[in-house]
Amino acid sequence: MQFYSTRNINNKVKGHEAILSGIASDGGLYLPSTYLKFDLEKHLDDDYETLAFNILSYYFDEFDEAELKEAIHKAYTTFESKDVTPIVKCGDDYILELFHGPTCAFKDIALELLPHLLSMAIKLKNQDSLILTATSGDTGKAALAGFKDVGHTNLFVFYPLNGVSKAQERQMLTSEGQNVRVIGVKGNFDDCQKAVKQAMTSKELISYLEEYNLHFSSANSINIARLLPQCVYYFDAYYKLVKEGVINLYDKVNFTVPTGNFGNILAGYIASLMGLPVNKLIMASNRNNILYDFMNSGTYDTHRVFHKTNSPSMDIIVSSNLERLLSLLINDDHKLKRLMNDLNEKGIYTIDDTLKSKINDIFYAGFTDETSTVKTIRNCFDDYGYILDPHSAVGYKVMKEYPNPQKNINILLSTASPYKFKETIKEAGIALDMAKAPLSIKELDSKPVLHNINIEREDIISCIRELIKTLK
Ligand SMILES: *Cc1c(COP(=O)(O)O)cnc(C)c1O
Repeated sequence: MQFYSTRNINNKVKGHEAILSGIASDGGLYLPSTYLKFDLEKHLDDDYETLAFNILSYYFDEFDEAELKEAIHKAYTTFESKDVTPIVKCGDDYILELFHGPTCAFKDIALELLPHLLSMAIKLKNQDSLILTATSGDTGKAALAGFKDVGHTNLFVFYPLNGVSKAQERQMLTSEGQNVRVIGVKGNFDDCQKAVKQAMTSKELISYLEEYNLHFSSANSINIARLLPQCVYYFDAYYKLVKEGVINLYDKVNFTVPTGNFGNILAGYIASLMGLPVNKLIMASNRNNILYDFMNSGTYDTHRVFHKTNSPSMDIIVSSNLERLLSLLINDDHKLKRLMNDLNEKGIYTIDDTLKSKINDIFYAGFTDETSTVKTIRNCFDDYGYILDPHSAVGYKVMKEYPNPQKNINILLSTASPYKFKETIKEAGIALDMAKAPLSIKELDSKPVLHNINIEREDIISCIRELIKTLK
């Protein structure tokens, strides 16, 4: 299997190189050169791990099969439920719960596996990795949990001292592991992200790393090893409904996805390319609704106000994974490169009507604001006794707005546990039963703080140099 860059189809690499570098040298994102033709009947009885192996071994065919199986096993035994991603009925609809991993957000599904894949990739290259991550909350903790004591990998997480919630900060500062460090940066998320970018492109720092046989890698959602593991739960959810007799094999269903960086919903589109029977992919945004505007007008315009909402993991203006969808639909790397150049240089691009209608054939887009998010949490609780987290509530609201002319079964991807967003749940007038909280949330207050480094943004490089000396 080879992976090509969205901006130059002749720029091809093997899977382990795509995983190690994250982004292509020309600034593009990697995509697999062919897609698995998934035999729906054959895999109906696969459990989650087997399904994951049967999908991922097609794309990462250079890895030893036993090692890949072991990696998948290690990743998914950290989940609360053996089901990994249970599906529950809510009225006439179904909610796919993606938040039963160690940090209670859907990022765990990819970030529990990515470190093991990276570790296998590193072995083929004989070098160790240093991953730098800037986080606005969820990604940082999920990466800290996933990378904890994974061989040949090291992780430094940088978070904005005035940009994460108290619970998120505590989750990060109590992280264990010989190979992980957490650093607070004075400033907001943007300052943090800029500092990390500056460090990762510093020639001086890159050669300093080489003295320690270390190379930079990326754990953010442009890494192909974060995208492909997310296709698995789309199949798994579909099979569960077939086995429960809700649908017949080959019936088409709708998936609704609370969307930020467009990674989760893109995995649904890729699952459909592999043969999953999908009617509509319903994309739900919060007030940062640039994707909604794009799908309706054909223009992606980043000149807009950034809103801090009660679904913070979806507060995004530039959704990096959209590039992959455009690449798949346009099928012309020069044209795609022009659009991405316009995005970089002018902050705006427009697609033609043919492409726009192609997108609208597959996707339905909607959005909702903070007040209506809180109301939706309340209403769903009153009607069905089910407590949605704010991100999933955005999804629920948009799912209900979709006209659904053919009455397909709706599956909502629920991306976080309500226990992670207690303040908003309280605002909806709902008291969470703390006795039923996930263990990782319950034990948060009693865990010791293990990290205490705070820096100015300008000092990131000297900070990294010092921290490297402390690695085993
Ligand atoms: C990251 C995240 C999202 C957005 O997912 P994308 O793949 O970036 O579209 C939605 N909800 C929660 C809780 C998240 O952590």
